[in-house]
Amino acid sequence: MQNSSPQEQRDVVIIGAGAAGLMCAIEAGKRGRRVLVIDHAKKLCEKIRISGGGRCNFTNIHTTAGDFISGNKHFCKSALARYTPYDFLDLMAKHEIKYHEKTLGQLFCVNSAQDIIDMLLAECRDAGVEIQNPVSVNGVRPLPDKANAPKFSLETSKGTVTCESLVIATGGLSIPKIGATDFGHRIARQFDIPVTAIRPALVPLTLNADDKAFCKTLSGVSQDCIASVKKQSFHENLLFTHRGLSGPAILQISSYLEPGKSLSIDLLPGQNIEDELTAEANKKKTITNVLAPFMSKRFAQEWVERFSENRTPADMGSKKLRAVAETIHKWVITPSGDEGYAKAEVTLGGVNTNDLSSNTMESKTRPGLFFIGEVVDVTGHLGGFNFQWAWASGHAAGQAV
Ligand SMILES: Cc1cc2nc3c(=O)[nH]c(=O)nc-3n(C[C@H](O)[C@H](O)[C@H](O)COP(=O)(O)OP(=O)(O)OC[C@H]3O[C@@H](n4cnc5c(N)ncnc54)[C@H](O)[C@@H]3O)c2cc1C
Repeated sequence: MQNSSPQEQRDVVIIGAGAAGLMCAIEAGKRGRRVLVIDHAKKLCEKIRISGGGRCNFTNIHTTAGDFISGNKHFCKSALARYTPYDFLDLMAKHEIKYHEKTLGQLFCVNSAQDIIDMLLAECRDAGVEIQNPVSVNGVRPLPDKANAPKFSLETSKGTVTCESLVIATGGLSIPKIGATDFGHRIARQFDIPVTAIRPALVPLTLNADDKAFCKTLSGVSQDCIASVKKQSFHENLLFTHRGLSGPAILQISSYLEPGKSLSIDLLPGQNIEDELTAEANKKKTITNVLAPFMSKRFAQEWVERFSENRTPADMGSKKLRAVAETIHKWVITPSGDEGYAKAEVTLGGVNTNDLSSNTMESKTRPGLFFIGEVVDVTGHLGGFNFQWAWASGHAAGQAV
């Protein structure tokens, strides 16, 4: 990649060459802005590369504002309306990239996530965008407010660069080993822009010793379920692991689960296990055998061993049968914690949207400074929504920088 000599000047500098940063660069470049993108990583777009199991769940065709968590649930609406999943599909069509819908509107590449990376980098080249990496930013300084003069000066490992618009697209904290940092939050604080409380989200949950030992015996077993916290529920699969619980339903609900609080899991949605057990009350089947048609035999055996006794329903009164059914339809778990940023897909929280224009992503208190993508307090559900936010917020800023 190219070097910048000391005291270079650009119209726009974007820090972070991920999904949001590159989308913003493409749009600004197409408008004729002189754009420099800086990233400290040796290899660009690593999060795109590893996403969706290597096939990148790049959007969700059912995207609505309801698929995002934010201090202001209306904030994401404008950007999402102006850059929809179909706009991204048009871009994919231009590059003849094949995709397919896996489930619930989730679109994945047929070949690999590399197709999307190649597309973004090709679009950057066509729009005259310069990308420098690996380059680190050692400091950002505001410049005196003068008409038509640069507003920011950046000290980088390649020298000084000034710009009119500075875009922070450094993402969240998940997966530090591929370059995630809290740079964006630090820049916000430097300019007195508030950052909401942050924590790992879309993350596997860890359990206390007893529950953990139980999950370990079922490690690898997947089960359809409804996981709920207060009024929020997700009907997807859960996966028992050596450390606790994972799978889509658990990742989804983790974004709503406050530390130390409980979640409730219905392990047989749509069934009435109390009725099934009662119907067997005059027969010889054991509880495990009554449950077995509804779940794997292994799951039924372990469940009964943990929560009941393997007797026949006839030997148990209706009160006990109801209690067994309740453990299945309302399994209440209080996780000991989660697997942290090393395993989380996203960071919940970020730059407070009250300080940002929902139209342009520009700070209301620091003109010329923009925040886009995951660094902002807009967090999508699992299923392609986080990339759609990255594209849409990057696109919105790209029209304004
Ligand atoms: C394992 C995994 C799988 C995922 N799968 C999906 C999926 O299938 N679908 C989906 O919608 N979302 C998925 N996500 C979430 C999605 O990847 C992110 O929400 C999205 O990449 C955010 O885009 P961004 O541009 O804001 O940040 P990023 O894509 O993280 O880009 C930030 C860039 O900033 C750079 N950077 C960071 N700090 C500095 C610094 N100090 N100086 C210079 N550069 C810096 C980084 O190197 C990086 O290139 C997944 C996340 C993970 C971790």
